[in-house]
Amino acid sequence: MAPEKSPQPPAVTSEWVRRGRSKIHGGGLYAAKPIPAGTRVIEYVGERITKAKAQRREAHRLVARADGQDGCVYVFELNKRHDIDGDVKWNTARLINHSCEANCEPEIIRSHIWIVALRDIAAGEEITYDYGFDFADWKGHPCLCRSPKCVGYIVIRGQRWRLKKTLKATRVKR
Ligand SMILES: [Zn+2]
Repeated sequence: MAPEKSPQPPAVTSEWVRRGRSKIHGGGLYAAKPIPAGTRVIEYVGERITKAKAQRREAHRLVARADGQDGCVYVFELNKRHDIDGDVKWNTARLINHSCEANCEPEIIRSHIWIVALRDIAAGEEITYDYGFDFADWKGHPCLCRSPKCVGYIVIRGQRWRLKKTLKATRVKR
C-alpha cells in the first residue's frame, strides 16, 4: 500500500457490528445485536479519488491478482467524477464478505456510502452484501458463501442466470 502522508484516522466502528473470523473468507463482520431492516449498519469509508486514478489502481490490482496476491476490489462508485477506494486500514467495512444471499446492500446517501440492512438480521449473523461483480469476470472470483442459493462465483445478482447457463453448458461438454 502507498505510504500515507497524513496520520491515519482511527478505524470506523459501529454499535451494530463486531469483527470476527469469517467462515466465508478471512475476517468478517457480525451483527453485535439484532439489526432492524433499513438500518445503516456501518459506513464504507476510504480515499476519495478521481475515476482515472481509480482505474489505474484497479489495473495494478488485477496484475497483483494474476500474480497470486490478494486482488480484492475495494473501489466504489460514488458519483460521476469520484470513486471511493476502501482499501484503507480504517475502513472496517472492507472486511464484509460477499454472499449470493446478502443481508445488506451498499447505498449512497448524501455522498456517503452506507452498508444498509436489507432485512432484519439476527445477532451473530455475518454481515454480507452483493459485491456486484460483472459476469465477464466470473472465473477470477469463486464464491464460498455456502448459502443454499450460492452460484459458485461472485457475480452480480442480475447476471447470475448467465453464469448458470455457462456452467451448465460447460458440464454438458464434458
Ligand atoms: Zn455464493
